[in-house]
Amino acid sequence: MAHYSRQYDLFLGSTQSFCHLCGDLRHLVDTHIVTRGDEVYLRKFCPGCGESMAKISSDLDYYKKCEAYLKRPDLPEKALTQVLRGCPYDCGVCPQHQNHPCLALFDITDECNMECNICYHAAAPGLGNHKSMEQIGQMLSTLLSVESEPDLIQVTGGEPTTHPQIIEILRTLKTSPARHLMLNTNGIRIAEDEAFVKELKALGGGFEVYLQFDSLERSTLEDIRGEDMRQTRRRALEMLERYSISTTLVCVVKKGFNDHEIPAVIDYSRTLRCVRGVVFQPVQEAGRIEAEGDFRITLSEIRERIIGDTGNPFTAEDMIPLPCDPHKIAVGYAAKKMEQGYARLYPVTGSLPKEMITEQRGTITFEQDREFVKSVIETVSLDTAMGEAIISDKIKQKLFCCWPGFLTPKDMGYEHVYRIVIMEFSDIFNFDATNIKRECNFIITPDRAIPFSTHNMGIKFSQ
Ligand code: SF4
Ligand code: SF4
Repeated sequence: MAHYSRQYDLFLGSTQSFCHLCGDLRHLVDTHIVTRGDEVYLRKFCPGCGESMAKISSDLDYYKKCEAYLKRPDLPEKALTQVLRGCPYDCGVCPQHQNHPCLALFDITDECNMECNICYHAAAPGLGNHKSMEQIGQMLSTLLSVESEPDLIQVTGGEPTTHPQIIEILRTLKTSPARHLMLNTNGIRIAEDEAFVKELKALGGGFEVYLQFDSLERSTLEDIRGEDMRQTRRRALEMLERYSISTTLVCVVKKGFNDHEIPAVIDYSRTLRCVRGVVFQPVQEAGRIEAEGDFRITLSEIRERIIGDTGNPFTAEDMIPLPCDPHKIAVGYAAKKMEQGYARLYPVTGSLPKEMITEQRGTITFEQDREFVKSVIETVSLDTAMGEAIISDKIKQKLFCCWPGFLTPKDMGYEHVYRIVIMEFSDIFNFDATNIKRECNFIITPDRAIPFSTHNMGIKFSQ
């Protein structure tokens, strides 16, 4: 007689993952995607350890919605490795990969002036290994061979501002074909060295600071960063505000430590003119981080905290899956207007037709895509033939009643855009051999372009 499983409700499909019980990265294990109530799990079958489950979503409806947002693959222009052992052992980038680098990370040093407990890089004072200008030139050539017009290069490490040639590196990359450049930093040098901040300002438009900002509370910072960073962060943001340097706050979320602060971080970000938004990253198992058990949080749980917060205007319709990697990245865009030192936000993603989003070239920087901004303007201003043609009366009404009069094509500049991004990377727990092929964040080495997650997991590659 047939019987039902007590472990799960629905079988959604199968994939492959790694066993997080034995931690063996040499072999993939057969894995089912199953549901239990509203939650979605990877059910793994390890020949040595038996069955195990890893939660990948707390929201079955949103999980299904991600599938509906998938867009056509936007492939790298060239593969740099061959298919020998199969994914994920052939990184990269191999001919199987289904996404180009939306974000190219240039890791320029292992050195850091901090020693955070949650460092995926395991950087620390004294490790050094600053990359030479020659190596950075090779990284750029590698990137341009797979993506001739990159959207975004992010300079990272370690702490990149400890590199003695950091300004020279930024200037070199600023003149490359990459459209935008970011500096990923803990903010210490920005807080302490005004001359350095002036050099950053001189880089001009298309440059942004990606500032570590996980918490407003001393105890949390001491836990995850090893020290109370509140003063440093405040001083760094004063500098960035003074010099009007575009800034994104980056918040690594660890359940039970700072997930309750998600609304407070968004609220704080609205007090700063220079801040263009917040990126939330669920803590991942990599480098010095142990992300096992209770600390883990999924993308959907962070999304629930954001849309459940009545202090910000983002609703479930506004926080949507990013079409190039929908299960791993969620985005919400808003127009922003500063009023008496606080940003009023008018979310737009929920009002745009889905096709407008899914037909975009895959990128995590929609606002810097001229066509997208033009589409937003045309949609919301409704004063062009295209705007009239592409949206329904229902959407027009919704936009008209909530859309501010200040926004015109003339002043819809980058400073009027605010975005919330949730970006989840893969680790040994949530690794899904299907999703990994869509990862759009790549570590660029002198001869490889490797998806960020497989790079950090410590997988031994075949070539
Ligand atoms: S993750 Fe991508 S680049 Fe790496 S082996 Fe798989 S398909 Fe190839
Ligand atoms: S997380 Fe950043 S600031 Fe902290 S040790 Fe690592 S590189 Fe340094």
